[in-house]
Amino acid sequence: MPSIFTKIINGEIPCYKIYEDDKTFAFLDINPETKGHTLVIPKNEVDKIYELPDEDYEALMSTVKKLSKHLEKKLGARTLWKVIGTDVPHAHVHLLPYDETWEHGRNLKLTPEEFEEIRQTLEYKPE
Ligand code: 5GP
Repeated sequence: MPSIFTKIINGEIPCYKIYEDDKTFAFLDINPETKGHTLVIPKNEVDKIYELPDEDYEALMSTVKKLSKHLEKKLGARTLWKVIGTDVPHAHVHLLPYDETWEHGRNLKLTPEEFEEIRQTLEYKPE
C-alpha cells in the first residue's frame, strides 16, 4: 500500500507543491508550525531517511539545501530542519522558516487562499 506521500507525488492526493525533480518532491505541510513550513521527500518510498540508498539520500539532502536557501531568500528567515517521521512512514525533512513565536507541534490555522498565496511565493523556479 503506497504511503500518503507517494499518493501526493502521484497526484492522487492534492498538495501545495513547490518543487519537483526526478528524485525528490517538496510541498507545504498541511499543519504548518510556521509560515512556509515545507516537507521535502524522496520519490523512493522508504520509512527512515537512513534506509535510503546513498544516491537518493544525496539527492534528498541536495534539495533540502537548495530549498532552505530559497526559503530564506523569499521569506527573510533562517530555515530550520527537523526530522521526526513518527506520523508518516515515508522519509521526509521538515523545513521551518524560523519565527520567534514558533513552538514545536503548535500549528497555524491557514485558509486554502493563504496556503495558495504562500505556495505562489515559494514555488521554486530555476533561474
Ligand atoms: P512526522 O511524521 O515528521 O511526525 O510528521 C508528518 C508531517 O506530515 C506532519 O507535520 C503532518 O502535518 C504532515 N502531513 C501528514 N499528512 C499530510 C498530507 O496529507 N498533506 C500534507 N501536505 N502534509 C501532511
